[in-house]
Amino acid sequence: MAEYDYDLFTIGAGSGGVRASRVAAAHGARVAVAEEYRVGGTCVIRGCVPKKMLVYGAHFAEDLEDARHFGWDIPECRFDWVKLRDNVLGDVDRLNGLYTQTLENHGVEIFHERATITGPHEITLSSGERKTAGYILVATGARPHVPSFPGHELGITSNEAFHLDAIPRRVLIAGAGYIANEFAGIFHEFGARVTLMNRSDQLLRGYDEALRDRLLQISIAKGIDFRFQAAFEKIEKNRDGSLTVFMTNHDPLEVDCVMFATGRVPNIEGLGLDAAGVAVNEGNAIVVDAYSKTSVDHIYAIGDVTDRVQLTPVAIREGQAFADTVFGGKPATVDYSCIPSAVFSHPPIAGVGLTEAQARNQLGAIEVYTSDFRPMKNVVAHRNERALYKMVCDAATGRVVGIHMIGPDAPEIMQVAAVAVKAGLTKADFDATVAIHPTMSEELVLMK
Ligand code: NDP
Repeated sequence: MAEYDYDLFTIGAGSGGVRASRVAAAHGARVAVAEEYRVGGTCVIRGCVPKKMLVYGAHFAEDLEDARHFGWDIPECRFDWVKLRDNVLGDVDRLNGLYTQTLENHGVEIFHERATITGPHEITLSSGERKTAGYILVATGARPHVPSFPGHELGITSNEAFHLDAIPRRVLIAGAGYIANEFAGIFHEFGARVTLMNRSDQLLRGYDEALRDRLLQISIAKGIDFRFQAAFEKIEKNRDGSLTVFMTNHDPLEVDCVMFATGRVPNIEGLGLDAAGVAVNEGNAIVVDAYSKTSVDHIYAIGDVTDRVQLTPVAIREGQAFADTVFGGKPATVDYSCIPSAVFSHPPIAGVGLTEAQARNQLGAIEVYTSDFRPMKNVVAHRNERALYKMVCDAATGRVVGIHMIGPDAPEIMQVAAVAVKAGLTKADFDATVAIHPTMSEELVLMK
């Protein structure tokens, strides 16, 4: 290793890259990181973190309305988007500083520029400077996919949504996955007229059907429009700055903003992967083994650029496992089973394990328990929104193989429920636990 400038050169300082670099350095490695944008990556700078802050901000629209039913005299309220936006971006700056500090505290050298692999162990920075390293880690993440059709350049993605000058009066969101449903809720609560369009007739593929249906029903009741089986034909800009969107199977729609939330694609361009001999799959994701090793022995890849599970906590685990394996003398792989996840829609959805349909296919005999209830707070608030919890069990053993929830605080409740599912507990174990009354989560131990 002494023959190289560094033991490890990481390209990309997102959640995965930062964890891998910091832990490798703690194991004694000499580490450098190149980041062309801002330390923190998608999650911290333009993803999970600022999005969650907007979700909190958006929820006040309903909270203020509900408060009146709880006796509060709320005068007419006005929402100031610019204030929220700037507060959120201010906090992003703070976190960006903390992430940078973490790397520096561990003696990791940061190059704020683009890096390309130019030789077996060589990296060239955009300044022209060349560096060598024993190992190279690619952790460049993914970026929004924008479909190609006339006028697509008139739309934005979630990257730009955090920087808008104003909340658009009418917004069309393309896609029906995580980002589309989260931003549909955010924009709607901030007063925009929201239409969500998708190429298929499903939203949130991968989540339990009953929950997806419930979100659709609640979203429609809130006033969000849906257009399914719709593909873009073109977008035209009108004289007044508005946009007319032409799509298959539906009338043209006039809006003020189009936002694409149609999946994310791995960032592999310009990295020199071809020349280095690093294999990618048909979706341009880097192919890796269970230890995150690519087709080249000393080049590894983690996170969204590998397209395994596109979630921050997974990228962090991959980064940790890589550093422990290569520099800590403790070979480690990531366990991808039972990964809990959540969609911060209004109301949120959360799930872990098998959906009812998956369990039926895989196990045959299953038992399904549901609780369909109106949360106490919604009753007083005259909010006709029902929560739905579902527990899926293996009929042969009673083991809980999946839990799925839609309702207030579902992601908070799910994190703990996921421990039980991961541990292989049974329905009887849940039933043996005394309820905390009155809560929503007590439904999980009272299911009949
Ligand atoms: P998703 O994969 O969740 O959803 C993509 C949506 O776009 C689907 O509705 C899909 O339709 C549609 N779509 C995909 N490709 C095309 C295409 N070529 N043309 C038209 N429509 C298309 O992606 P997102 O962009 O919402 O989010 C990206 C990833 O980021 C997520 O998969 C998730 O892993 C992560 N994420 C996680 C969050 C969380 O944990 N809360 C929050 C935000 C993002 P169809 O259903 O027909 O396939």
